[in-house]
Amino acid sequence: MGIKINLHKSPPAPPADDNYGFGTTFTPHMFMMEYSDGKWGEPSIEPYGNLSLDPAAKVLHYGQEIFEGMKAYTNPKDRSVHMFRPDMNIKRFNKSCARMCMPQVDEELFMEALHTLIDLDRDWTPESPSALYIRPTMIATQASLGVVAADKYLFYILIGPVGSYFAGGIKPLKLKVEEEFVRSAKGGVGFAKTGGNYAASLLPIKRAKDEGFDQIIWLDAESRLTVEEMGAMNIAFVYADKIITAPVGDTILNGVTRDSVGILCGDFGYNWIETPPIIKEICDDAESGKLLEAFACGTAAVVTPIGKIHYGGKEYTITGNTEGPVTNRLRETLCSIHTGNSEFHPEWVTKISTS
Ligand SMILES: *Cc1c(COP(=O)(O)O)cnc(C)c1O
Repeated sequence: MGIKINLHKSPPAPPADDNYGFGTTFTPHMFMMEYSDGKWGEPSIEPYGNLSLDPAAKVLHYGQEIFEGMKAYTNPKDRSVHMFRPDMNIKRFNKSCARMCMPQVDEELFMEALHTLIDLDRDWTPESPSALYIRPTMIATQASLGVVAADKYLFYILIGPVGSYFAGGIKPLKLKVEEEFVRSAKGGVGFAKTGGNYAASLLPIKRAKDEGFDQIIWLDAESRLTVEEMGAMNIAFVYADKIITAPVGDTILNGVTRDSVGILCGDFGYNWIETPPIIKEICDDAESGKLLEAFACGTAAVVTPIGKIHYGGKEYTITGNTEGPVTNRLRETLCSIHTGNSEFHPEWVTKISTS
């Protein structure tokens, strides 16, 4: 398809230490493509740099924006770099596009853009379990305050090293069930990775953090009786005979990690059931010991144990605030698949082609 490459004249070297944190360090290049007059223009890779936007650009006023989040990992044996199920993120990006009234991106070109950009800045892919975070983004750039979909867009991809969520060891999460605010409603945009969902969550998350919690658990907006998901992760509950998680619909972000965990559960002979978890039952079962484990899953934290849940003014402890065996097995299996080091689902990793 021919992606034009405009190389950075004096690219900075990758950082020497590995204190990357999350989302603050980026490689010297970015992928860019503009949409106008009803079609996409020439795709190119450019030096990383500021964007020039008209202050009336629609994205700045009405939030017509979508993004994706995925990772590439280094195989410690041969230093090859692998993306994890990028086809799923590409498809989800186009689903978000459709809901936010934005133009679709050709899947093949999207994939080629990922390979070309990651290969170009390959030196920036850290040792596992640190990873290269990939952030495809689309914004409405048309300068107009009319509340209609824009006719100009910018699609770009940023990449940068991020530290492992587990750098300080496995720490079970302490979560607050959010009883005042809701994340999304039926017919809304909860299934789309669009900026507004995250802007709306900042206040409830800040309040929870100020109260000493790591994150919040969202309930469904209608009955407020069932668990939907977390701020940027899905959530599942482990019983002796089943593992339950909320079914995806239009209120839940359909996580690639969630989908992968469900398939692995099948491989391991666990009974993965998609049914709305009733928060009252989850808490009662945590108290009686019937609930064995709970975990969060997403690209950032892979699979992370949940140690405490706060609901209705009471705190419930799960698995004695440690990591349970099912959570551990799912996390370790996924981590070894990520680097291309597992007999499970080698088809899930896509090796970055070399130019
Ligand atoms: C991205 C995201 C997830 C997890 O999706 P993954 O594809 O597993 O990273 C879950 N919930 C929300 C709200 C998200 O934005």
